[in-house]
Amino acid sequence: MSESQALDLDRLDPLASFRSRFLLPRTKTGEEAIYLCGNSLGLQPRTTRAALEQELDDWARLAVEGHFEAKYPWYSYHEDLCEPLGRLVGAKPHEVVSMGSLTNNLHLAMVSFYRPTAERFQILTEAGAFPSDRYAVDSQARFHGFDPDDAIVSLGGESDLVDEAEIEAYLETNGHRVALVMIGGVHYYTGQLFDMARIAKAAHKAGAMVGFDLAHAAGNVPLQLHDWGVDFAAWCSYKYLNSGPGGVAGLFVHDRHKNADLPRFHGWWGTHPETRFKMGAFEAQAGAGAWQLSNAPVMSMACHRAALAIHDEAGMDALRQKSLSLTDFFLSQLDRLPTGRVEIISPTEAHRRGSQISLRIHGDGPGLHQALAGAGVYCDFRHPDVIRMAPAPLYNRYHELWRVAEILRERLS
Ligand SMILES: *Cc1c(COP(=O)(O)O)cnc(C)c1O
Repeated sequence: MSESQALDLDRLDPLASFRSRFLLPRTKTGEEAIYLCGNSLGLQPRTTRAALEQELDDWARLAVEGHFEAKYPWYSYHEDLCEPLGRLVGAKPHEVVSMGSLTNNLHLAMVSFYRPTAERFQILTEAGAFPSDRYAVDSQARFHGFDPDDAIVSLGGESDLVDEAEIEAYLETNGHRVALVMIGGVHYYTGQLFDMARIAKAAHKAGAMVGFDLAHAAGNVPLQLHDWGVDFAAWCSYKYLNSGPGGVAGLFVHDRHKNADLPRFHGWWGTHPETRFKMGAFEAQAGAGAWQLSNAPVMSMACHRAALAIHDEAGMDALRQKSLSLTDFFLSQLDRLPTGRVEIISPTEAHRRGSQISLRIHGDGPGLHQALAGAGVYCDFRHPDVIRMAPAPLYNRYHELWRVAEILRERLS
């Protein structure tokens, strides 16, 4: 019954044809694996290789002249990505820039937006934040002479999920001490989607800056960074954005800071492209581009360009619709499992989750994870007892999720 339901859903899926645009890893026996790790490393689009070859050929043919003569001139390569990135995160093109790496970009943004004083020095973050984010905020606090034990406030440690009301309540009473609210837009462990508009409003009301780490949100959920009034955001491109391992990251800086006199670390790529080679004094670009340090990593951006084109073609709204439908279907299948063995720690309400379902396994979690791997299912195990599964609407099928539920049922019964 549920298998035929899965097959029907696949047949009716308007995004079904996108799967063939990606290279799926294979099992030892040569079949397509069930890949549920798109939240860690998205799959390679078939168009990526040609995009890279274009740059390799232009480099071979033109060498230094490629900066201006390549099919996509390297000097301005990053500028072509502003439009699709703006659509992706709900921003004006000049509010976003493709640059650097995620943790780097968070630090560069905090140089500008974490300006602690003796009274207002705290960074408010979510409990169980991703290690790199914790290291980043701790080291920022230390850099300014504060003890992270005093300066970093993590909310929501009592349960897996963090209630936005708790963030609001803290800001209501202690907001005068908070310099920056920095939260992962979608939590990497639980898959919780935060109400970023609500958090941004509460932060600003308290007089604090607000930034989001969108590592698990960009390409996963619809974003409206400009309208939400977020001060800054950063994301990576290799998770839901399928742009390759360690691929170039992104940065958003709200329009209102365009010409603001903010402290900022500078490099030559943050200057005006027209006057850059005059090698004169630093003249900041208006917008997120001013935060750039170095010239564009073109190979990485070529992968990003190819992947963004696919994303853009599918459209974030259609992707979101399928992602909710996939996870709804998967949740309905989990009802078939024996009681007490698997606990769903991701929010089950649609508006509070992205594409990821995290399962706490009671009993032998590593053993179950190994059994899934043995059956050709890619998912990840997070110490001590959580398996994360992230169906990607661009390439996963309902029938794959039916299969996964079936494997879980067989193993747990
Ligand atoms: C994946 C991820 C990172 C990775 O950071 P890099 O700088 O790209 O290595 C950081 N933070 C979060 C929340 C992540 O999910």
